[in-house]
Amino acid sequence: MSRPWIARPAKPLPMQTETMTHYAAPTALLDGRVVLVTGAGAGIGRAVAKAAAAHGATVVLLGRTVARLESLYDEIVAAGGPRPAIFPLDLEKATGEDFDRLSGAIESQWGRLDGMVQNAGLLGARAPIEHHDVATWQRVLHVNLTVPFILCRCLLPLLRRSDDASIVFTASGVGRRAKAYWGAYAVSKFGIEALNQILADELEREPNLRVNAVNPGPTRTAMRAAAYPGEDPQRLKTPEEIVGVYLYLLGHDSRGVSGRSFDVQ
Ligand code: NDP
Repeated sequence: MSRPWIARPAKPLPMQTETMTHYAAPTALLDGRVVLVTGAGAGIGRAVAKAAAAHGATVVLLGRTVARLESLYDEIVAAGGPRPAIFPLDLEKATGEDFDRLSGAIESQWGRLDGMVQNAGLLGARAPIEHHDVATWQRVLHVNLTVPFILCRCLLPLLRRSDDASIVFTASGVGRRAKAYWGAYAVSKFGIEALNQILADELEREPNLRVNAVNPGPTRTAMRAAAYPGEDPQRLKTPEEIVGVYLYLLGHDSRGVSGRSFDVQ
């Protein structure tokens, strides 16, 4: 009897990624550029914002905890960087009006945006799907995936006004090969890879606009410590050690590079 189909053991399709561990950024790489960093108050976002300012960018520091943004502002100014802007916003609770306020503020101050690092993220619960809390699932999906979509939607017109604009999404290893108990976080990061690919495809004919994703890899931050409480943080790279690829993607050396997904470690 002939069979209508033959089942074969499925082979997982590897996601195309590339590794970039070092980039020697010229000091004036981002001179004159306006770059928005979300989740700028702590961890990787803070290090990226500082590095971008140290390379000449005027950075819009978006985050939830005002005191952290203010101390970062002071550090950037004390180091001689261009005076940044602070935009306090809880992305979980932000309304359409808040996003309009953000684009309005950037438009009135600079008339354009040259870079956007979508870094803010929530870990959520490490739990099996069967017991995953629904409200936590929704929060994580919202902050990690829906908000990056909303920010692209409302800021693309300002990015389009730049001669050389770059969007950088934040990916994760479990957003390429998921593992038990990573629930909403892993799903949100798979979604980020899709958003990256969709947007790059849609912007293919716009050479002044590029979009890429970065997986920072295990990095010494509060989120990593929450995910791996038994781990010795001293064995991990610091956020300051992994900013090179973010600078590369924000600066002119990555012109024409789009739709790609990078590993830093
Ligand atoms: P941290 O928890 O150290 O920092 C996250 C930042 O995001 C904080 O500044 C936090 O604000 C901000 N944030 C969180 N929720 C919101 C919100 N609702 N509104 C505004 N800001 C918010 O995390 P990391 O630096 O480790 O993570 C940064 C990114 O890198 C994330 O997207 C994460 O998924 C990704 N990543 C991290 C890895 C790692 O090993 N660290 C590995 C792979 C990916 P606040 O200061 O108020 O807390």
